[in-house]
Amino acid sequence: MKLVRYEHNGRSPQVGLVVENRVIDLSGVVPSMHALITLSADGQTVIRQQATAGQGIPLNEVRLVAPLQPRRNVMCLGKNYADHAREMQTAHNEPIELPQFPVIFTKATTSVSGPTDPIPFDPTVSEQIDWEVELAVIIGKQGKNIPAEQAMEYVFGYTVLNDVTARDLQRQGKQFFKGKSLDGSCPIGPWIVTADELTNPHNLDVRCLVNGVEKQASNTRHMIFDIPTTIAYLSRGMTLLPGDVIATGTPDGVGSARTPPEFLRPGDVLTSIVAGIGELRNVVTAVP
Ligand code: MG
Repeated sequence: MKLVRYEHNGRSPQVGLVVENRVIDLSGVVPSMHALITLSADGQTVIRQQATAGQGIPLNEVRLVAPLQPRRNVMCLGKNYADHAREMQTAHNEPIELPQFPVIFTKATTSVSGPTDPIPFDPTVSEQIDWEVELAVIIGKQGKNIPAEQAMEYVFGYTVLNDVTARDLQRQGKQFFKGKSLDGSCPIGPWIVTADELTNPHNLDVRCLVNGVEKQASNTRHMIFDIPTTIAYLSRGMTLLPGDVIATGTPDGVGSARTPPEFLRPGDVLTSIVAGIGELRNVVTAVP
């Protein structure tokens, strides 16, 4: 299933199911994406049955918003692609080392935005807004100390995420949180593809374009820590909850590691693509 949250005719966001470029309203069946994620297997079957229940609204007549508003911070992997780890360490004259354990940081819930929302640009806040396309995993059920062999049972689905980063703020302190958490710096969507429809999340092309020019092009098979390893690591002694979002890291090609460095400017169009899921299209927009 492709699950969305969408606005139509001025109504607040509803949960919907996308079938062949139409959105079928699920608001009469389930009140929120969180409620949908935590439905029983029977409940999920009822959702699936809606695919044939109604005509739906053409996709181009609705405004898609973030498919999920996470209840706690988005958990992110840093340096999870070797080529990206190398490019960042080279750019900062640091020794080249690959992580021995997953590098985890988080983005504030308030950074999350939709698949076509603007990326705010305020030069008094940051002039080094950078891109990081990533595959994101949505957790489907509560778990702690999850063995890697069972980890995929905890995955509800997947979406596209751009871990937009204010590099100057990221480097000011010793923690990434501030530079990773500006409003609008975590576009996700356009929908959640449920895990049953994306049977090999470890072989998906991942691409990022700025104004149509390809900046990042890789494949999820190049992750250092795969999804089961990451879920097992995160859940060790720490409860994962349904609706948790885990961003699996970005490949090489980010702006700040380029020579000379490149950053986003107002008017730039950022396109983030994960094959088998879809794409985000966010325009960098000056804050008045
Ligand atoms: Mg990232």
